[in-house]
Amino acid sequence: MAGAGKSTFVQRINSYLHSQDPPSPPYVLNLDPAVSNTPFEPNIDIRDTVDYHKVMKEYNLGPNGGILTALNLFTTKFDQVLDIVEKRADTVDYIILDTPGQIEIFTWSASGAIITDAVASSLPTVVAYVIDTPRTTAPATFMSNMLYACSILYKTKLPFILVFNKTDVRPHDFAVEWMHDFEAFQAALASHQGTTDDEGEPTYMNSLMNSMSLVLDEFYKHLTTVGVSSMTGAGVKEFFEAVDASRAEYEREYLPELQRAR
Ligand code: GDP
Repeated sequence: MAGAGKSTFVQRINSYLHSQDPPSPPYVLNLDPAVSNTPFEPNIDIRDTVDYHKVMKEYNLGPNGGILTALNLFTTKFDQVLDIVEKRADTVDYIILDTPGQIEIFTWSASGAIITDAVASSLPTVVAYVIDTPRTTAPATFMSNMLYACSILYKTKLPFILVFNKTDVRPHDFAVEWMHDFEAFQAALASHQGTTDDEGEPTYMNSLMNSMSLVLDEFYKHLTTVGVSSMTGAGVKEFFEAVDASRAEYEREYLPELQRAR
């Protein structure tokens, strides 16, 4: 979600890789046409190819239409981008793609799907879903956020890491507990919104949330969770351990599927 800290996170993992011994500078792609400043220096930047403001003006679009059209225009050249990235793959360990701030434009557009599929068909790929931990402490918000993550997992079908960011403000232990202990989550739900209406019947929202949390229980089994602070750097090492494990998962599960489809 916008404001969860994606760009700060990219900057943090970028500087972490630079500070390794020996340094392992990543190759960084910025896919956000509307960002004014990135806190890192991307190797490939969508803004060098398409001018978001010009696109809005030329096609008479609002901000979201502008981002989508800019992304569409960039996608028509993505084969060239991928050629460059593939050439670098022998010399860099990690390639980082920062998505547009309006994440749904990326996850729910044809061009977002084309870019994701193109990258995932050519290199081991993992999705990092960045969560604003302090802003997801209410059970209903937590559940909405997890359902959103679930829909992205379902769309991409790629190895998936839930990155609970801003742990310097709020540790993510409550989230880990809710994900592992269904009853703890239900108790939190009940204490936030009550379980019954005036007649003592379970409220619609409550029974809906209970059913959805059962669905999510299945989802949680398929992903990795890490807590990080993009501000202090805490948890970044663990994030890269999760990436390495996800890479193995990609090779074990995603690659055979891809080869079968060819
Ligand atoms: P994006 O819209 O998802 O790219 O989010 P940004 O990277 O622009 O971050 C949004 C705000 O959250 C900024 O004010 C950041 O300084 C702040 N922020 C990002 N990561 C952290 C973190 O780990 N801890 C704290 N305290 N603030 C953070």
